[in-house]
Amino acid sequence: MVSGIVFDIRKYSVHDGPGIRTAVFLKGCPLHCLWCHNPEGLSFSPEILRRPERCLACGACALACPLKLEPRAEAGGQKCAACPAFGACVGACPAEALQLVGKRMSVGEVLDAIREDLPFYEESGGGVTFTGGEPLAQPEFILELLQACRAEGIHGALDTSGFAGRDLVVKAGTLADIVLFDLKLLEDGRHKTVTGVSNAPILANLAALYEAGANVILRLPLIPGINDASVDLENMAHYIASLAAEAGPQKAHILPYHSAAKGKYSLRGENYAMGDTPVPSAEAVNKAAAIFEAAGISVTIGG
Ligand code: SF4
Ligand code: SF4
Repeated sequence: MVSGIVFDIRKYSVHDGPGIRTAVFLKGCPLHCLWCHNPEGLSFSPEILRRPERCLACGACALACPLKLEPRAEAGGQKCAACPAFGACVGACPAEALQLVGKRMSVGEVLDAIREDLPFYEESGGGVTFTGGEPLAQPEFILELLQACRAEGIHGALDTSGFAGRDLVVKAGTLADIVLFDLKLLEDGRHKTVTGVSNAPILANLAALYEAGANVILRLPLIPGINDASVDLENMAHYIASLAAEAGPQKAHILPYHSAAKGKYSLRGENYAMGDTPVPSAEAVNKAAAIFEAAGISVTIGG
């Protein structure tokens, strides 16, 4: 059976599509957005996070390490690439000072976790949302997961950046009951600067999804200093509305920036590129919503 790398399965989510949902986080993403909320999902491999403030200096991790490293200072570093028992140090730690992020799971194992909450989905109109990372970056895995959910009548949502091959996007997007499609910026040069990739395939894939009849909800992060200028919002609204002329009414969720992920960057020993960027004011969020609504787009704030 096909398998893939999953870095989290969160139950009872109410922010990733309709109803109560299980969010399954697939590891690895080809984008590197400056504001990424899940930096632990960027790399395609399992990794280890260190929390020195919890360390008891007991030495149990060092005893478990086959490479004789000092895991409380070195776990997850380059030397661990040669580890024949990756994560043995994590299992030995009595204080949760080391955390393994990401593990290989089969489609069946993921489905078992999803099925545990079937009564909640039925009661609330919920289901499962595949997110990440970028779920489409593990093509066989996401297609099998979506097919299995469809076969079992479980409502499946795909949360994607849209950065993948056209055929895959359309196939996965039409297997899913909802596609939560992120759009960040229209201007390609700035899109490359803040995400690391061109938006040309993303925009083409969005058009292809509408043409294929996929149920798309756009997710529009609103990020001060990056995409909140009136001209950017108006250009984006007009672009979306131009697609709507061929594909029917558009739905969009505006997602105001927040810095809740800041602490994750320090755990990884990285700087948070957004620094002290403030959250958008209520006035700025309402102004953005008004711009999209004026273009005929159905807007929800948050979601
Ligand atoms: S991952 Fe392996 S090599 Fe690295 S610290 Fe842990 S046990 Fe040692
Ligand atoms: S096992 Fe955990 S608590 Fe003990 S030294 Fe290693 S990291 Fe610290």
